[in-house]
Amino acid sequence: MTESASVPHQLSARVLGLAQLGMIVIDADMHIVMWNQWMASRSGKSAHRVLGQDLFDLYGELRGQRLEQAVLSALQSNLPQTLSPSLNPSPFPLYPAGSWGGERVEQAVSVTPFNEGKERFCLIEVSDISTIVGRERQLRSQAEALRAQSYVDGLTGIANRRHFDVALDRELRRAQRNDGQLSLLLMDIDSFKAYNDHFGHQQGDACLTLVAEAFASMLQRPADLAARYGGEEFAAVLPDTSGEQAAQLAETIRAKIASLNISHAPAATRPHVTMSIGVATFDKDRLNEGAAMLAAADSCLYAAKKAGRDCVIVYRHQQENAA
Ligand code: GH3
Ligand code: MG
Ligand code: MG
Repeated sequence: MTESASVPHQLSARVLGLAQLGMIVIDADMHIVMWNQWMASRSGKSAHRVLGQDLFDLYGELRGQRLEQAVLSALQSNLPQTLSPSLNPSPFPLYPAGSWGGERVEQAVSVTPFNEGKERFCLIEVSDISTIVGRERQLRSQAEALRAQSYVDGLTGIANRRHFDVALDRELRRAQRNDGQLSLLLMDIDSFKAYNDHFGHQQGDACLTLVAEAFASMLQRPADLAARYGGEEFAAVLPDTSGEQAAQLAETIRAKIASLNISHAPAATRPHVTMSIGVATFDKDRLNEGAAMLAAADSCLYAAKKAGRDCVIVYRHQQENAA
């Protein structure tokens, strides 16, 4: 009996030495009574050196931190505690085995109280989650890169600038081939810096999304494209649309955005969020390139801002001559 009981004891000591996570046991006075090999090789402190020491004397930086609270609360309540890895990424100064320095390993820590005879102890388990966290980070940045390569604007869900450029180019070539009509709207939210300054960037983002949805819902034809052109600028590609039709649509969009009644910052030119819009139309002799159409729409947008904002200005060739 005695002999067979000693085998499991040796076995458990062996297992503790092989475990791929840190195991610390402390008593109710916070003194370390067990410290496994994993802890020794990541902390640079052997069991021999730390046994009998107060854990929070050994690691003064842990005093008053979440780990100490978790241990106190586990000892008092006899309930296990887990530290949130995002709030406590590396509580112990542990480094990859054998490296002695560099970046601390990222840790997931749990605290489990238990009773042995009349005494209460706490098992602290520490896992190295650096690889998982690193992989998560990598996946997140890959997802961001993919989104940038995609055709959808990450914030508003409408087409992005890349999609807009492709659509404008494709529709321009089609208009040139078929001697067709094509118009372009360029719009910009008025006094949006003041909006952000007053309500904060997060609410600014929410406002951009509302405006984008309202604007996109105004474009009815399947070939029309509503895009986020940049920060608080939007654009529309309108195939088979004359300058006059585009100007009407722009006016409807302007009125729709104003009618959303989104309260604006006190420093803005209007009490509600509004947009200024520039309109340019394909002309096979003069405005027959994407860059030229964009520049024309942009000059109208600039003129709309100068004219007091919340208005539509249509590009006319006389403008070009007069300039
Ligand atoms: P104007 O009427 O002349 O257009 O004035 P404005 O304040 O709108 O123009 P300005 O170009 O000075 O400022 C644009 C602001 O838009 C600045 C920037 O903080 C904000 N902005 C750009 N992109 C985003 C975004 O993605 N989210 C948020 N919340 N704000 C943005
Ligand atoms: Mg702008
Ligand atoms: Mg603006």
